[in-house]
Amino acid sequence: MRFDIITIFPKIFDSYLQESLIKRAQKKGIIKVAVHNLRDFSTDKHKKVDDRPFGGGPGMVLQIEPIYRAVRFAKLKILKTKDERLKIRTILFSTRGKKLDAKTAKRLSKYNRLILVCGRYEGVDERVAKHVADEEISIGDYVLSGGELPALVLIESVSRFLPGFLGKHESLEEIKGSYPVYTRPEVFVPSVKKTKRAWRVPKVLLSGDHKKINEWRKRNSGRP
Ligand code: SAH
Repeated sequence: MRFDIITIFPKIFDSYLQESLIKRAQKKGIIKVAVHNLRDFSTDKHKKVDDRPFGGGPGMVLQIEPIYRAVRFAKLKILKTKDERLKIRTILFSTRGKKLDAKTAKRLSKYNRLILVCGRYEGVDERVAKHVADEEISIGDYVLSGGELPALVLIESVSRFLPGFLGKHESLEEIKGSYPVYTRPEVFVPSVKKTKRAWRVPKVLLSGDHKKINEWRKRNSGRP
């Protein structure tokens, strides 16, 4: 799976992609992430990529032209591989998009290439949603300053469905879903004076009875 991110803040991605499972997945060749600076696709001499909204109103709007060129660039690179079986999807992050959930992440994990367009400012010229992107995605009912965090959220949630990404935990997550977990100590006493509180691990988890433990986990699991 290859992700092509189009953004005016490419440096945002440096640190997150260089840690933990995401880093390992890139090393193992499970995913590849290419970050493109939208300004590189501006034809303006000051590398401008935004302008005022028609009809008035506050803020600036990202223009279609550099985005169109950046998406075309990412696609051309992809098509150069001349593998016609490659499945490509272009996604625009938008507060009006379809809400990202596990089902959508799983569906997107079936593509070979995802091109991710990150909006900024007051948003993106609507013609990008209409003619350039295949779909619009929101990561939740709140407004962020840009599509960069949504891009990272999407990359991680999609990648977790790719074979090998989770290593040994893969099948566990697939089968059991998400249940509460505890580790040592069995009893934690918070060091606040005058209280006799003790926060304990549920007894069943210490019982060694795997049937009961599994039942408890099932009862307490919430699955996305
Ligand atoms: N006034 C706009 C705000 C745009 S925020 C509105 O209400 O829609 C700027 C950009 O951040 C958006 O174009 C989008 O790409 C991204 N963004 C902000 N919140 C988001 C969310 N919850 N999910 C996905 N993208 C989001």
